[in-house]
Amino acid sequence: MTADLVPRFLSALRRAIGPGPAPLHVPDLGGREREYLLECIDSTFVSSVGPFVDRFEREMEVFTGARHAIAVVNGTAALHVALLLAGVRPDDEVLVPALTFVATANAVRYCGARPHFVEIEPTSLGVDARALRLHLEAVAEVVGEECVNRSSRRVIRALVPMHAFGHPADLEQLRAVAADYRLELVEDAAESLGSYYRGGHTGTFGRLGTLSFNGNKIITTGGGGVILTNDPGLARRAKHLTTTAKVPHRWHYVHDEVGFNYRMPNLNAALGCAQLERLPAFLHAKRRLFAAYEEAFAAVPEVRLVREPRDCRSNYWLQTVLLKTGGEELRDALLAATNDAGYATRPAWRLLHRLPPFADCPRMELPCAEAVESALINLPSSPALAGADQI
Ligand SMILES: *Cc1c(COP(=O)(O)O)cnc(C)c1O
Repeated sequence: MTADLVPRFLSALRRAIGPGPAPLHVPDLGGREREYLLECIDSTFVSSVGPFVDRFEREMEVFTGARHAIAVVNGTAALHVALLLAGVRPDDEVLVPALTFVATANAVRYCGARPHFVEIEPTSLGVDARALRLHLEAVAEVVGEECVNRSSRRVIRALVPMHAFGHPADLEQLRAVAADYRLELVEDAAESLGSYYRGGHTGTFGRLGTLSFNGNKIITTGGGGVILTNDPGLARRAKHLTTTAKVPHRWHYVHDEVGFNYRMPNLNAALGCAQLERLPAFLHAKRRLFAAYEEAFAAVPEVRLVREPRDCRSNYWLQTVLLKTGGEELRDALLAATNDAGYATRPAWRLLHRLPPFADCPRMELPCAEAVESALINLPSSPALAGADQI
């Protein structure tokens, strides 16, 4: 059945988005970005203090419904500080999906802790709550108010679900597992600005959540991220730690702990404010693009398009197909043919336990993550592909 798959895959792409070339994801800077950047330059507020930073934080609070948003230099720094504030200590373990961008696991290592890789499920491509619960029943026990890994004797401190390509993970079930095992829930919502689980914005279900505004995300600040929390104490600590732990004073330099220079510069926040004005249009364009792919790929029954899970609303940040048969060889043939034809398609991230820095980390059985890794292809996803008149 896969004999003429390559040409049919190419013609589905052509039908959905035209003849190409098409990059994987490029930012759309056609709004007030230039105006706001010039305003920064004229005001001389180009660095880590300025009115756009405050405005961006307030607008993020309104958009996500989180009570507090703290803007930082990038999504990795946001995760690093969120994990510290969640109480992650050196030698702890932190549960992280095997299928995620490397930043999720790097942030755990920055805390001196180690990632403990967990299985995903095939609908959302996020952490499989049921498999995780069975795994914890087998390897962990709650001692006092801590979850202890029986074989390593280390504390498993936190669970970091990631909303892959914008599709919300099963937050209700994950929150239940986290509660039963005394785990802090810290959401890596880097990819899911504009995605909702049962009406709540992703990144607001744990005590802390993080977003990213890297150049390829649904909105960009050049580089940037945000820490979300409803807890005013944690919000104050997040601002303090990301501002070199400087005790506010008109002229004295007093720092009461080792902090980080993680503040988002005003220039970047200016870009972010302009991009936020366009976010509703981007979200609309992403859904139209999904619909176009869905229609075109109806002629390719060998693949399944990843769609938003039930009771969720996805931002459809990166469009994704899974090959139902064929494995890595077929995937690689499709990657080669599509890239040769000018369509930037990409495979999944290499599973993190296979990367040299994480090879010796604890993990559970990962059959679904492994199957998805060899079957997944991301398709060109820029909002402009939905048709210029749509945004
Ligand atoms: C983009 C991303 C991050 C953070 O990335 P930065 O480039 O540091 O902003 C973290 N986790 C995931 C899953 C991501 O996709």
